[in-house]
Amino acid sequence: MRLISLEVDGFKSFAEKTVIKFQPGVTGIIGPNGSGKSNVIEAIRWVMGEQSAKSLRGEKMVDVIFNGAKDRAPLNRAVVKLTLDNSDHFLNTPYTEVTVTRKLFRSGESEYLINGQNVRLKDLVNLFIESGIGKESFAVISQGRVSEIFNGKPSDRRKMIEAIAGVGKYKADKETAQKRLTETNNNLNRVNDIIHELK
Ligand code: ATP
Repeated sequence: MRLISLEVDGFKSFAEKTVIKFQPGVTGIIGPNGSGKSNVIEAIRWVMGEQSAKSLRGEKMVDVIFNGAKDRAPLNRAVVKLTLDNSDHFLNTPYTEVTVTRKLFRSGESEYLINGQNVRLKDLVNLFIESGIGKESFAVISQGRVSEIFNGKPSDRRKMIEAIAGVGKYKADKETAQKRLTETNNNLNRVNDIIHELK
């Protein structure tokens, strides 16, 4: 799996549609302080399903939408598109090339697409979690995270290792199943109470 391109439009400092094409090998992004290097990485994390505005250095999620500059009015939506080469089927989908798109409107409405098809945020998140490159993995390491990893508690490191191994999705599925089981047991208890009263 390899990044092919990233299209950023109205996301943070990217008021204009900007396309970054990644060539095979290592890509370096250089620029003066405050020129938007971290915003590129955040755009990748955001399109992969990041749900925490704080971890994107904002208060609310709409803070990722370009909020104007000296000579430019704020925009009403942010769109990020990430295209990946999936010819090795690292991502669990039959497509050999995968484009994930995330849109957010100032009204708070969101859209998520996988290869042009509307999907739920959950589908998009699962696509990456199943492959071990979810938001808690080492796939994207932002500034300050390296020392956080080295100085972290063993339980936190375990969480990261589990994320890399792709355990996250199964944990989420287990939690959903356990919740359903509790609900079903509660219903069963209620039915038993009713049967008892009718006897
Ligand atoms: P450094 O080298 O200092 O880490 P950087 O190149 O990584 O900097 P970023 O942190 O990516 O830079 O970009 C910061 C810039 O993005 C700031 O100028 C900030 O005003 C701008 N910015 C962030 N959010 C928005 C937004 N919603 N709308 C417009 N500009 C924004």
